Amino acid sequence: MEPFRNEPFTNFALDHNRQTFMEALASVKAEWGKHYPLVINGKRITAGNPQPSINPSRHAQITGYVSQADHSLMDQAIEGASAAYTIWQLEKPLFRIGMLYKAAALMRRRRHWFSAWLVYEAGKTWVEADVETAEAIDFLNYYASEAERLLLHPPKLVSYPCEHNEWSYMPLGVGAVIPPWNFPLAIMAGMTAAAVVCGNTVVLKPASATPIIAYHFVSLLEEAGLPGGVVQYVPCPGSRLGDQMVTHPLVRFINFTGSMEVGLGINEKAALRRPGQRWLKRVTAELGGKDGIIVDDSADIGEAAVAVVQSAFGYSGQKCSACSRAIVHQGVYDEFLAEVVRRAGLLKVGPADAFDTNVGAVIDRAAFDKVAAYIELAAAEGTIVCGGAEQLDPSEGYYAGPTVVAGVDAQARIAQEEIFGPVLVVIRADDYAHALEIANGTPYGLTGSVFSGNRAHLELAREKFHVGNLYFNRKCTGALVGVHPFGGFDLSGTDSKAGGPDYLLQFLQAKVVTERM
Ligand code: GLU
Repeated sequence: MEPFRNEPFTNFALDHNRQTFMEALASVKAEWGKHYPLVINGKRITAGNPQPSINPSRHAQITGYVSQADHSLMDQAIEGASAAYTIWQLEKPLFRIGMLYKAAALMRRRRHWFSAWLVYEAGKTWVEADVETAEAIDFLNYYASEAERLLLHPPKLVSYPCEHNEWSYMPLGVGAVIPPWNFPLAIMAGMTAAAVVCGNTVVLKPASATPIIAYHFVSLLEEAGLPGGVVQYVPCPGSRLGDQMVTHPLVRFINFTGSMEVGLGINEKAALRRPGQRWLKRVTAELGGKDGIIVDDSADIGEAAVAVVQSAFGYSGQKCSACSRAIVHQGVYDEFLAEVVRRAGLLKVGPADAFDTNVGAVIDRAAFDKVAAYIELAAAEGTIVCGGAEQLDPSEGYYAGPTVVAGVDAQARIAQEEIFGPVLVVIRADDYAHALEIANGTPYGLTGSVFSGNRAHLELAREKFHVGNLYFNRKCTGALVGVHPFGGFDLSGTDSKAGGPDYLLQFLQAKVVTERM
């Protein structure tokens, strides 16, 4: 068993790497405009009503057209996945594990090509796209190594006289996998691969804004040996067919990453037993955040400002891990605010395919309108000290640019509700205890950071800062597979810890067999 190692990032300071990335962008661009079918039981099915997939940086550009499933195709996909499960669950774990390792190797060889799709379909900058493709490769390798550990070397039980007792893991059945558009390769690949390597089959509904990258991933799995029916690729409007996936009696589990509202709805619907349903459905959910970074009076203000700007505006704040609240000790508030505004002002807003862009467009018109509405609210609930309405420009792409709002009350709507865009609120705290209270004062509990030079304060946060991923003196985004297993508390989800040692257990059930000797 090879020890898992994270995939290194590309060094774009090297001419050679920039050149090969540009070639990948050109080769993906040359593929624009194609039609992508559904994949059901290993067959390509072209369905009616193909939906365009748009380049967020220039919304007149269509990257491709994607067939949409209807109710009857969705039924076919679920029934096909259920039939495939009878065979796939019996497949040797080593075959399933080998398939993930192969898929990782194939993706590594086409790394920039996948990243280029992220640039054009998700509006990721070069660096964000590169980091995401590395994360997708990591998920494949990590879950393969985790499956080796759990399936090939299951835990030993305590010995008991005159009995042989054995523990083994079994898969669950058909899973509905509903990934987000913000990590349309890494999270989608991780959610799918984890289920499949355990012996489950999957009905994969890619996010409506980013279906093509998921199609390419499914094709990659096929190349690595995936049999027909094990992953059904069924793009469809979630608002119309999502319920069908969740409530179908043949669906055993749901793995969802997305908004709190949708996640709560899924949890509720999955809890009801439907006619013909023979199990309690399991729901794994990774939801939103209103993540805070505390800046203590002993913090290195320069470092804190860099981290807040990176965490707030990386991928235009469209990460559930993004810092949307800087909670700053009053003693350093003015100094910190000035530094954050200065650094945010240095960020270059532009199309994602330009190498020097730091902040790209937001994903679509709905996201843009939401950000615009919150910026309007921000003018009433605080003082906009950077960005704001004059920076909004949806004419070519959905550009919002970084906005910083100062003097915000911790209970204001812009300090409580997830915006999922490049809007940072700065909140003044009386002292460190007050800062912790503010940090914990939302319904979420995903990520958080503390910048402090005070050891006792860091230890207090370790105990009291109620988030699934807590960082000290660093940014609160960019969790690495295996290094920072990722997931949150409370309304941020089921704390599923993607990229961690507990993750696969969510798609397995343990069986104990006892034989009297
Ligand atoms: N795991 C990512 C990070 O640490 C965020 C994932 C998400 O936004 O869903 O930044």
